[in-house]
Amino acid sequence: MQPVSALKGVGPRVAEKLGRLGLHTIQDMLFHLPLRYQDRTRITPVGSLMPGREAMFCGRIELADVVYRGRRNLLCRVADGTGSVLLRFFHFSGAQRDSLQRGVLMRCFGEVRSGQTGPELIHPEYELLPAGSEPQPENRLTPVYPTTDGMHQLSLRRLIGEALDTRLQGIREWLPDEVLDLLRLPTLREALDFVHRPPPGAPVGVLMQGRHPAQQRLAYEELLAHCLGLRRLRERIRQHDAPGIDADGALFRRLVLQLPFALTAAQQRVIGEIVEDLRQRQPMQRLVQGDVGSGKTLVAAAAALHAVEGGWQVAIMAPTELLAEQHWRNLREWFAPMDIEVAWLAGRHSVRARRSMSQLLASGRAPVAVGTHALFQREVGFHRLGLVIVDEQHRFGVHQRLMLREKGAADGRIPHQLIMTATPIPRTLAQSVYADLDVSVIDELPAGRQPVETAVVPDSRRDTVVQRVRRACLEKRQAYWVCPLIEESDALELQTATATEVALRQALPELQIRLVHGRMKPAEKEQVMAAFKGGEVDLLVATTVIEVGVDVPNASLMIIENAERLGLAQLHQLRGRVGRGAAASSCVLMYRAPLSAAARERLATMRATSDGFEIARKDLEMRGPGEVLGTRQAGEQQFHIADLVRDQSALPQIEKVATILLDRYPQHVAPIVRRWLGIRGSYADV
Ligand code: ADP
Ligand code: MG
Repeated sequence: MQPVSALKGVGPRVAEKLGRLGLHTIQDMLFHLPLRYQDRTRITPVGSLMPGREAMFCGRIELADVVYRGRRNLLCRVADGTGSVLLRFFHFSGAQRDSLQRGVLMRCFGEVRSGQTGPELIHPEYELLPAGSEPQPENRLTPVYPTTDGMHQLSLRRLIGEALDTRLQGIREWLPDEVLDLLRLPTLREALDFVHRPPPGAPVGVLMQGRHPAQQRLAYEELLAHCLGLRRLRERIRQHDAPGIDADGALFRRLVLQLPFALTAAQQRVIGEIVEDLRQRQPMQRLVQGDVGSGKTLVAAAAALHAVEGGWQVAIMAPTELLAEQHWRNLREWFAPMDIEVAWLAGRHSVRARRSMSQLLASGRAPVAVGTHALFQREVGFHRLGLVIVDEQHRFGVHQRLMLREKGAADGRIPHQLIMTATPIPRTLAQSVYADLDVSVIDELPAGRQPVETAVVPDSRRDTVVQRVRRACLEKRQAYWVCPLIEESDALELQTATATEVALRQALPELQIRLVHGRMKPAEKEQVMAAFKGGEVDLLVATTVIEVGVDVPNASLMIIENAERLGLAQLHQLRGRVGRGAAASSCVLMYRAPLSAAARERLATMRATSDGFEIARKDLEMRGPGEVLGTRQAGEQQFHIADLVRDQSALPQIEKVATILLDRYPQHVAPIVRRWLGIRGSYADV
């Protein structure tokens, strides 16, 4: 395909900017789809402008003035008989200022905000209209493209327009007829043209929601491209050798004997699946999904012991230091009786400490290493790495997965990989998002867990909540009082937690109250936690440090302050700290009014269910997969046009079509993947 520089007006500088958007060829331009549309097909009366919405309106300038409020502002009041609105400019030329005269008629477009004196817009797009003219709305929707610094929306729109005019005809249909017949959707060319330039009269609402057949056609192909890309990645990994690890499970049996409980059937089944994979000479690529508290750590330990028994090393990676430390403590305790050394590698360790850990690993003296991604820095070498375990994988995207798998083991073989997540997602979705992985589900909680009864209470009823804590603790139960992040600052979080602790001590003098937070020294933290675990402390005031890992079965009441600020996944994790013992547990979600609609929905969901799958489904619906699965944080591109939640029902069919293509049209696969994933998805050119 021709490079972008074949377009008129694209010199080296523009080409470089387009390159930053991943646009290298003209085909890339055609597949750079609008993020959304602006609706300039209606003129909104100024009196009905709504803050937070984009709108087009017309009116006359009533007043224009330059004022100094710290900096120079050009203010312009525009009215149309139904109301008035303020336009605010911080950067303006003399000519611009002179043109904005009282009485001039203008058409304006932008996002409305609520200002001090009513609705206002900052730097709106505007156009002056000749006196006496009748303002006209546009007759088609305006596409808005993802762009980058220095690449103006209008220029991008023009370049894409040119690509459509001159090159759309050359675009190839890679879906075979039998698939097209199945789809009954527009052809690729029709769809691309429609989506870039919806014709006049195109249904605005349907397009805005992304449900037009032209959009569906493209979304379908995009999802297919991802699915194909991941399946090929899987195939590529399969071509590598992995150590076939033989062991008869003696070490794990020893661990099980030490445990005060029996494995659940689900744990046994999943461990069986993993061990079977580990015996193969093909690399395991397995994802374990299991709700909070379903006992994933033990499953990881089983996998690790199998590898160690077979003479291989294991690396266990967690997304945060806290979680890594937690695993390290757990495993060290479990493995100590078997004389298995567990090395711990954290970013905050001194260079010297890290070096000595690295030596332990490189020499093979430590069979197990736990750490954050620091484990996978270049300088860390393993003697015989046979298995990589990644915990809480939802925070790592495909790229990270790929990087890990490429981390070679001894003699050209690559390690087996096990990924664990507590963000369970629906099966159809998992098959698509993790098309490169086999999925095991721990679909059972240890026996005796009772659902946590959850109440949602405004913080104006704090006194009642405090009394509830008193009653519970006097009955010899224990409680958590969680003070989550108020501002984006550890220091402030700490301040709130400290103040809360003081207030609670005053209100509840008869109780033993302690505070635990992230800034405490590990030894101090451990001492407080041990006292809580030992029952000497009734009420533990905590920051969200206790989100993961803390396990005190006698604690059966949890209060979460500012619950309205937390996401569903985090609330679910926190609540998972109670309901672990024999007693019935409860959780009070305290909020500060007024609640946003989204917060209200989150809290209602938490009250309605304790099923992690259900909560994840709701989370996906509310936030979208990019946020929930962490691909956005991981810096991975979102889909151009597909939406995993909206388009979920198409996924099973897409799976089938992917199989048809791989089996019968293998030469079509690479062009489809490249077209949609370009060079951005490194798994595209696998
Ligand atoms: P998660 O799946 O959230 O990572 P953990 O591995 O932290 O869960 O396990 C939660 C708690 O349940 C731990 O205290 C663990 O020791 C305990 N546990 C694990 N498996 C069982 C089981 N089969 N029966 C009872 N308790 C279990
Ligand atoms: Mg866990």
